[in-house]
Amino acid sequence: MAPDILSRATVLAKLGELVDRARNADRGLGVLVVRIGGLRRLTLGGGYAAGDRVLIDVDECLRSVVRRDDWIGRIGDQDFVFLAPHVTDEGQLLLGANRLLRALESMRPLHGAGGAINLSIGVAAFPKHGSDPERLLWTAEVALGLSEQHANPVSVAGNERTAPSNHYWQVETLLSGAVERGEIELHYQPKFSLRDGVYDGVEALARWTSAELGVVSPAVFIPIAEASEIINDLTWSCINSALQQLADWRSESFLTCIAVNISAICLRAVDFSERIRGVLALWNVKPYSLTFEVTESAIMNDPKRSFQVLRDLRELGVRISIDDFGTGHSSFSYFRGLPADELKIDRSFVAALAASAADGHIVRSIIDLAHKFGFTVVAEGIEDAETVDILRDMRCDVAQGYYFSRPTAAGSIPALAKSKFPPTADARHLPQSSRGDLAHRGR
Ligand code: C2E
Ligand code: MG
Ligand code: MG
Repeated sequence: MAPDILSRATVLAKLGELVDRARNADRGLGVLVVRIGGLRRLTLGGGYAAGDRVLIDVDECLRSVVRRDDWIGRIGDQDFVFLAPHVTDEGQLLLGANRLLRALESMRPLHGAGGAINLSIGVAAFPKHGSDPERLLWTAEVALGLSEQHANPVSVAGNERTAPSNHYWQVETLLSGAVERGEIELHYQPKFSLRDGVYDGVEALARWTSAELGVVSPAVFIPIAEASEIINDLTWSCINSALQQLADWRSESFLTCIAVNISAICLRAVDFSERIRGVLALWNVKPYSLTFEVTESAIMNDPKRSFQVLRDLRELGVRISIDDFGTGHSSFSYFRGLPADELKIDRSFVAALAASAADGHIVRSIIDLAHKFGFTVVAEGIEDAETVDILRDMRCDVAQGYYFSRPTAAGSIPALAKSKFPPTADARHLPQSSRGDLAHRGR
């Protein structure tokens, strides 16, 4: 059986104990979070037994390299934590992380998984990166996020080479002021129908340019906002901006729909849909002009409550889209009761579509089944014409990605919306802005 997922409280209690011991003995302590990326996809393609087999092997492999005082536990679907007392400095910690990586990479099942698995490690050290367990674990998790984002197998918290703004505590401190001052802006990425090439609304994506930190990626500040509950104010600020934008566009006779990303925490508020009814009335916006994108994992945090909030929103007329579909825990059986209108296939599947037959099978199955249950299917992260053609053949409904346009300021959207991309992919006929974008990327 795959190792059980430990509660966060259990891990923090153990970490607290080791921090106390390290402090008393004037020693260091390393916290490593190891992510077995691609496991969910493996499970989706090969069944739970294949995923469990990898988890068991990873657990055994990690245990085979530990020293007597090290401690290991599984802390998420695909995450393990490794606590290493006795490390004296960051260099030693990095050596340890690389030792883990080598051991894991040499494992037979990872090779057997046909390269579907990729490993990332986030590292934090006591006392350098924090002295309380919660902060240390979170710092290692933020480093892990950066490791994934920058395709670096190992990232250390606070390492300037990883990203310009990975001092999460600095981000956290500045972020709530940034929300209050209205520094978070929305950019919009258009979507196009794959059936006839016609514009099909936009997704709103938060952008933050901080006076102190420069441009901070949402992949960095959204998880920090979620951990510190700033996310509530941030989300409401984004919803208000999006509705105001819809009202502004309407006054220019441009009628469209906006999809806004919503975090799990927002779905915990029982009065969420009532508040949405209020702001829709305030901006005089029709509910069907608004879509909320929610990830599968956000819903599965507390399925009972989130299903209820999603049902309330749909009753109001707001559309629900399941974002990053395919990366969460859901099995196909969960399609049945899903209170949603749309599935958005995660860009990791889309990116691999032209090269990987396995990803092709998964995407085709998702599209076919989604249609049987009446969902619209959107593919995100499309970067080339070949992928457009494959998705069109698979009868995917809507497309979004750099191939058409990067997320852009609101002012560019009405013109982009007039463009139609051709049924046969040919960059010469792409909308003007996309051609510029392709040229910009040296194609
Ligand atoms: P997401 O909702 O899945 O958004 C899609 C991400 O893919 C965006 O990254 C977008 O810029 C990027 N993208 C779009 N087309 C392509 C492509 O062709 N290739 C590649 N490589 N990437 C593409 P971004 O803007 O960095 O946002 C990252 C994530 O941050 C979003 O993923 C979403 O989960 C979160 N996020 C962004 N804005 C908000 C927000 O206002 N609220 C919440 N709760 N989360 C947000
Ligand atoms: Mg989204
Ligand atoms: Mg997505």
